[in-house]
Amino acid sequence: MKVKKKPVQRVKHVPQRTCVGCREVLPKRQMLRIVRNVEGVRVDPTGRLAGRGAYLHDRRDCWVRGLRGALAHALKAELTAEDRSELENFINTLPQDAESDK
Ligand SMILES: [Zn+2]
Repeated sequence: MKVKKKPVQRVKHVPQRTCVGCREVLPKRQMLRIVRNVEGVRVDPTGRLAGRGAYLHDRRDCWVRGLRGALAHALKAELTAEDRSELENFINTLPQDAESDK
């Protein structure tokens, strides 16, 4: 006679990350990663670059807020003027927020 195994409740582990702009916690896949490495601070669309990473929503609001200080704090680095303009260029590629929750 076969002993029936109890079904094991598997809780899928979804990595969660905090948006440094609004502090909301979301699955990592829904976030954009910014990484700091020897070359500076840059957006990491693959999520695989080595270095210290921080996460932001793909929302302009969050990027603008992040650039005010939270991002530098999360990366434990001051943003250089170059980093900043690189990130600002990226912000300009993001869609305008359809609705604002201000
Ligand atoms: Zn956010």
